Amino acid sequence: MRTIHTTAELRSALALLREQGKQDRQRSIGFVPTMGALHEGHRSLVRLSKQDSDVTVVSIFVNPTQFGPSEDFERYPRTLESDASLLIEEEVEFLFAPTVDQIYRTGHSTQVHPGAIATLFEGARRPGHFDGVATVVSILFNIVQPDAAYFGQKDAQQCAVIKNLVRDLAFPVEIVVGATIREQDGLALSSRNRYLAPAERKEALGLSKTLSLVRDLLLDRHSIPSAISAGIAEFHKIAPHGILDYLDIVHSETFQPKASFEGSEGLDIPATVIIAANLGSTHLIDNLPV
Ligand code: AMP
Repeated sequence: MRTIHTTAELRSALALLREQGKQDRQRSIGFVPTMGALHEGHRSLVRLSKQDSDVTVVSIFVNPTQFGPSEDFERYPRTLESDASLLIEEEVEFLFAPTVDQIYRTGHSTQVHPGAIATLFEGARRPGHFDGVATVVSILFNIVQPDAAYFGQKDAQQCAVIKNLVRDLAFPVEIVVGATIREQDGLALSSRNRYLAPAERKEALGLSKTLSLVRDLLLDRHSIPSAISAGIAEFHKIAPHGILDYLDIVHSETFQPKASFEGSEGLDIPATVIIAANLGSTHLIDNLPV
C-alpha cells in the first residue's frame, strides 16, 4: 500500500495508473472515503471495493467543515497507524491521508448545499453538517475521480444526500451502499462507540432494539403513530438515561416523514426507520430499512 498525503501526488499516481491500464481497458478505481478510526464497518466497504475494482483508494480525513462548533472535531479519534495496518491487511493499494490545507486550499470559499434533505433530522440537529459532507465528497471525487464510491447504510441520510449530489451535479461515479455492520448484540459499529462508558454501552442497545421493534410492528400492519409510541417506550425502558433525539419512519430517498404521505401514496414508498439518541455526551444514530 502506498500512503499519500498530498493531492498532487495522488493525482499523478492515479493518472499514471489509468494510463497503464489503457492497452486493454482503463483500470477501474474504487473509492472509500472515511474519517479513520477504522472498524469492521469500514472494512466491509473496503472489501466491496476490492471485489469490484482494479484499484482501491481509501481516504482518511477528519473533515472540519462537517463538525459544528460545539461538536467533537478536536477529540475525534485519530489512529492513522492502526488504520494503515487494517488497510494493508485488506491489500488496499492507496491510502490518501491529506492535511486540511490539501483539501481546503488557501482562499477556499465554495460550498455545496444539498437542499431540503439536509435540513431534516441529522441536518436539523447539526446545521451545516451535510453542506460540509457534500463539499468534501465533491472535492474528494474530483481528486480521486473514482468509477465507484462506497458508503455505509449506517449513515442512511448521508447516503441519500450523496446520491442526490451525484445525480444533481452529474458526477460520473456509481454510488454503492454497503449494509450496516453490527456488534453481536445489535449495536451498529461506529468510531464514536469508543466514547461510551460501560453503562452507556449497555443502554446504547436501545437504538437497535427500538428499530427492530418498530420495523416488526410496521410489518405487522400497526399504524405509524402506534409503532412510534411503542418504540419510544422501548427505548426508554432499555436506555433510561439516554436522550432520544428522534425516532421516525421516513421516505428512504427524501427523508420526508412517511406520515406526511397520504393514503395509498404512502403504501409503496421505500421506507426507513431512523433513530438518534444521546448517551451521555455521545450522539449515536442508526436505521433499518422496512
Ligand atoms: P466515517 O469514518 O464514520 O465517516 O464512515 C466512513 C464510511 O463508513 C461511511 O460511508 C459510513 O457510513 C461507513 N460506516 C460507518 N459505520 C458503519 C457500519 N457500522 N457499517 C457499515 N458502514 C459503516
